[in-house]
Amino acid sequence: MARPEGTIRVCLVGACGRMGMEAARALAKAPGLELSAAIDRSHCSEPLRQFAGPTVPDLEVEQKLGAALERTGCHVMVDFTHPGVAADHALTAIRHGVAPVIGTSGIASAGLNDIKHACQEASVPGMIVPNFAFGAVLMMKFCEMASKWLPDAEVIEMHHDQKVDAPSGTAMRTAEVIAASRARARRALPNEIIKADGARGANVAGIKVHSVRLPGLVAHQMVMFGGSGETLTIRHDSIERSSFMPGLVLCVNEVWNLEGLTIGMDRLMT
Ligand code: NAD
Repeated sequence: MARPEGTIRVCLVGACGRMGMEAARALAKAPGLELSAAIDRSHCSEPLRQFAGPTVPDLEVEQKLGAALERTGCHVMVDFTHPGVAADHALTAIRHGVAPVIGTSGIASAGLNDIKHACQEASVPGMIVPNFAFGAVLMMKFCEMASKWLPDAEVIEMHHDQKVDAPSGTAMRTAEVIAASRARARRALPNEIIKADGARGANVAGIKVHSVRLPGLVAHQMVMFGGSGETLTIRHDSIERSSFMPGLVLCVNEVWNLEGLTIGMDRLMT
């Protein structure tokens, strides 16, 4: 695949949400990109500027993704909506020859498979990125390194109280990365007594993941490794949603240089 010549036109789905508004501002000011359509299930026909401020293009919020893609000839669709609908949005984009860059987390594995097959069949690239923050990707890389020497690890992820899915996509991916790179898994205590359900967290790829939801948080994760007489804690904090924007812009610029469906943006950070 080759990046389209000239300006990359972008359709943003979930434009009136917390991430959508931030993304609208970032895409509007990114050189070489043009925010061409804004989709949301609510606020239809209202001006996007009402939500994202005066720096974004003068667009009306629309409801119908397919119609917007046909009218604007967009190259890339960005989705920050809900795990129950994001896969359908991706499939609609692919049917229109538009590369999906999905930021929505928590898409079920059946949806992920459908997107993967659709990308292959249509020869349209796509990305699903659990975390667009460069620091979060580095955190996962450091965890991969650490787990070779300290294979015993637990993940504690902390998010704002409006997040609908748990564990976070980043925590799931971190656990999978650690599980794939460590030489051995810790054996559970045979005589462990659980006095309250969930006390030991969720089991993701054999690693305990604990999810905290509180107002005041944005997106944070600590990964604790334990060895003989030592612990190592690797922590990442997204303090503002702006932390996700340089990575989003990178993915929108690069998706057409990839093939098939790519999970995560590690490949773009070599
Ligand atoms: P939000 O609830 O503030 O916004 C979601 C928006 O999507 C709303 O405006 C809603 O009206 C719209 N929407 C929902 N269903 C729709 C549909 N069918 N069609 C069109 N629009 C629809 O949520 P948020 O905090 O912006 O988060 C959105 C997603 O992004 C979540 O899954 C969250 O976990 C994820 N997220 C990803 C990253 C990342 O780096 N990948 C970072 C933060 C959040």
